[in-house]
Amino acid sequence: MRLVAVAVPVPFLDLLTYNVPDSLAVPPIGARVRVPVGARTLTGCVVRHDALVEDGTDVKDIAEALDPEPLLPQSIVELCRWVADYYVAGIGDALAVAMPPGARRNGSAFRRQRIATLSAMGADPGEAAAQERESVRHQGLTSRQGAALQVLSASPAGLPTSELRERGITPAVLAGLIKRGLVVMRDERDERDPFERAAMTDVVPDANRVLTDEQERAAGELFALADAEQFRVALLHGVTGSGKTEIYLRLADRVRRSGRQVLLMVPEIALTPSMTALVRGAFGDRVAIQHSALSMGERHDQWHRIRRGEIDLVIGTRSAVFAPLDRLGLIIVDEEHDGSYKQEETPRYHGRDVAIMRASREHALVVLGSATPSMESYHNAATGKYIRITLERRVLDRPLAAVRLVNMRTEYADEGPEIVISRDLAAAIGERLACGDQALVLLNRRGYSTAVFCRQCGDTYECPNCSVSLTVHRARHGLHGSSEAGRGGWRARCHYCNYSVLVPTACRKCAAPYLEHAGFGTERIEEQLRERFPGARIGRVDRDSVRRKGTLTQILSKFAARELDVLVGTQMIAKGHDFPGVTLVGVISADVGLGLADFRASERSFQLLTQVAGRAGRGERSGEAIVQTLYPDHYSIQLACRQNYPGFFEREVVYRRRMRYPPFLALINGVVRGRTFEDAMQQAREIVRRLEPATAIGRFTVLGPAPAPLGRLRGEHRVQFFLKGTRRSEMRNALMQVVADMPEIRRRLTIDVDPLSVL
Ligand code: ADP
Ligand code: ZN
Repeated sequence: MRLVAVAVPVPFLDLLTYNVPDSLAVPPIGARVRVPVGARTLTGCVVRHDALVEDGTDVKDIAEALDPEPLLPQSIVELCRWVADYYVAGIGDALAVAMPPGARRNGSAFRRQRIATLSAMGADPGEAAAQERESVRHQGLTSRQGAALQVLSASPAGLPTSELRERGITPAVLAGLIKRGLVVMRDERDERDPFERAAMTDVVPDANRVLTDEQERAAGELFALADAEQFRVALLHGVTGSGKTEIYLRLADRVRRSGRQVLLMVPEIALTPSMTALVRGAFGDRVAIQHSALSMGERHDQWHRIRRGEIDLVIGTRSAVFAPLDRLGLIIVDEEHDGSYKQEETPRYHGRDVAIMRASREHALVVLGSATPSMESYHNAATGKYIRITLERRVLDRPLAAVRLVNMRTEYADEGPEIVISRDLAAAIGERLACGDQALVLLNRRGYSTAVFCRQCGDTYECPNCSVSLTVHRARHGLHGSSEAGRGGWRARCHYCNYSVLVPTACRKCAAPYLEHAGFGTERIEEQLRERFPGARIGRVDRDSVRRKGTLTQILSKFAARELDVLVGTQMIAKGHDFPGVTLVGVISADVGLGLADFRASERSFQLLTQVAGRAGRGERSGEAIVQTLYPDHYSIQLACRQNYPGFFEREVVYRRRMRYPPFLALINGVVRGRTFEDAMQQAREIVRRLEPATAIGRFTVLGPAPAPLGRLRGEHRVQFFLKGTRRSEMRNALMQVVADMPEIRRRLTIDVDPLSVL
C-alpha cells in the first residue's frame, strides 16, 4: 500500500490515512485530493507521506487527485502543522486558513463562483436574526433554512455555494430562501483590482526624502540585519509620527533588491489605505494584497499570483502570514501590539507569533513596529531576545501632542450628570472649526446608549441568549419597507449574538411613557456634536456605520480630503492614520476599558490613549489632545498622556510578575459550553480533575473551573478554566491527552492558547 496522511476541513479531525490506488501517482505534499469521509467525499490536502496504519485497519482509497503540483508549498504545510499543534486546533482547521479561497471545491474550482448573500431584507445581521426568529414562527421556515440564515448573516460579503454545501446547506435549502426573498445569488466577477478601493489617498513615496538622523541610524541597523539573511527579530519602537513607514519601505526595497520577498502585515487594511498606496507606489505591479474583506475572486487571483512567484511584496492582515511566498527575506508586523492580529475563532492563532515562527523556519528577518509595543514583545527586547531599535522623536522635530486631562467628576459637579462633552473639549472643537482644522473624537463604545429602562417599573432590555444588557441604537429605516419604526425609533441589540428588538415609545410592561437612556456611545456623541455645531461636517466610524462594503474607505477618504471637519469613532479611528489636518483629538471616556476583569485592561487602555493622542499634530501645525476621565490619577492614563511607554512598562511589568501573568508565564484558557450551567460546570470539573495528575509532574497549575465573565453566550452557559505555567508544551500535551480521552468534549470545549481576551 502507498499511504498518505490527509487533512480534511472537518473541525477537530486529526490527519486521516488513505491509500493511493495504483491508477494514481502519489500526490505530493501540499496537493489537494478528494477523499471519502463517512458518507461524503471531501477535498483535503496531503500533509505527510510517512503515514502508518495498524494491521487490519480498513484504509480507504483516495478518490481523486486534484493537483499534479502541490497547491501549497511544503513550508506552508509545515507551518500549519505547527499552528495546529501550538494552538491545539485540528490540522484541517489550520490548513483551511492557508488555502486560497475556493480551494476546497472540486477540480474546476478556480473560475467563477456562485455567491449567496442575505438580501436587503436581511442585509443587517441583527435584522436577519430577528427575521429568522419571526420567520421560523410565522412563516414556517425550516430549521435548516434558519441555520442557513445564521451562517450567511456572519458573512456579509457572502459565501460560495460550494462552501455552503460543505456546511450542510444544500441548494434546496438556498432555493427556499431565495423564493422568500431572504437570500440573493450572484456570480463573482473576473475583473478585479483590489487596490482600486484601497488606494484612496494620492500618497507618493518620496525617494529623495532625507531621513532624519534617528531614521538613518534605525534603517542602518535594520539593513545590516537584513543583509545577514538570518532569522532575527527586531522591535522598532518609535513614538507616533516618528516615521516608521519610511523605514519599512526602504528596508523592503533593500530586501527586494537582494532577490528576496517581503511580507508586510497590518492590523486592518481598510484602516491603513495610505500604507497600501505607498507600497503600491514603491513596488508597482509586483505587490499583492491579502485580507478577508476582498471578494473571494480577488483574494484567489492575488493568491495565485503570489504562488506563481510574480510578487515581491505582500501586504495583508493576519492570514497573510500564510501567503505562499517561497523566497521570504523579511516580515514586517506593523502595530504589532494590535489585538486584531489574534484570530478569535479556531484556529486561534496570533499573526505576529506565527510570523516569528515562520521567519525562524525560513531564515528571515522580522521587524515588529509599534509606538506602544505589547508587554510580551517589549519584555523580549528587554531580555535581549529581540533587538530593540528606538525612535524617540517625531520627524522634523514636530512635538508630540500636548495632552490635557479633564476630570469628569468636577465636570459633573459643575454641569450636572448629563454632560457628555466637557466644556474644554467643546470649546476646543469650536476653535478648530473656526480655523478650518480637523478634530478626531474617540469613544470606544458604539451605539446610542448602553441601556434603556422604564422609569416607572424599571423594565430593562436584556439579551435572552447572552448575559449582557442590550445596546440601544437608532433604528435604521427602510430595512423592512415601512414596517420599521420611523425616524427617532430605537432598536436594542446584542453585540454578541445580534439578537435585536424594537424599543416601543411606551414601556412594553407597564405602558408608561417614561423610557430613559443610560450611558452613551458614539451615536450619541455624533448627535450631540451635530446639535452643538450645526454647521460642522461630521462623520462617524464604528462597526455599525461602516457595515456596508466601501463605506469605511469613503468616510476616511472624505476626512483625508478635508471634506469632513470632525470624525467621531471607536478605536477604529485610533489606528495608524496619518491625517495632517488633525490638530485636536478628544477622548470622551478614557476609562471605558479599565473596568474589565481582564489582566490586559491597563495595557489596552494605555495603548489606545497613546495611539489616539498620537493622531494629533502630524502635519505642520502642532496638536493637542483632551482626555476626559473619571480616574485622572490612574497610571495608564497618566503615563499615556505623557506618552511615556518605558514608564508604563516598568509599572505594568511589576504587576504582571507579582500576579504571575504573561509575559512571565504562559496562559491557556479553556471554555466549556453547556445547555445548563450545571452541565457545563460538571464537564469542566471533569477536565480539571483529569489535568491534575499532570500538574504534579509538570511545571504548571490549573485554575478553576469558574463561571466565565460572559456567563451565557448565544444561549449556552459557559464555564472556564486556566492553565498557567512556564512550558506551553507541557500544558498543551496534558490538555490534548484529556481531550483525546474525552472525545465527546471536543465540540463543547474551546481552547485558547495565549488568549488576548478572556471573556
Ligand atoms: P509612524 O508610523 O511612526 O507613526 P509615519 O511613518 O506615519 O509615522 O510618519 C509620520 C509623517 O512624517 C508622515 O506624514 C510621513 O510622510 C512623514 N515623514 C516620515 N519621514 C520623514 C522624513 N524623513 N522627512 C519628512 N517627513 C517624513
Ligand atoms: Zn446575545
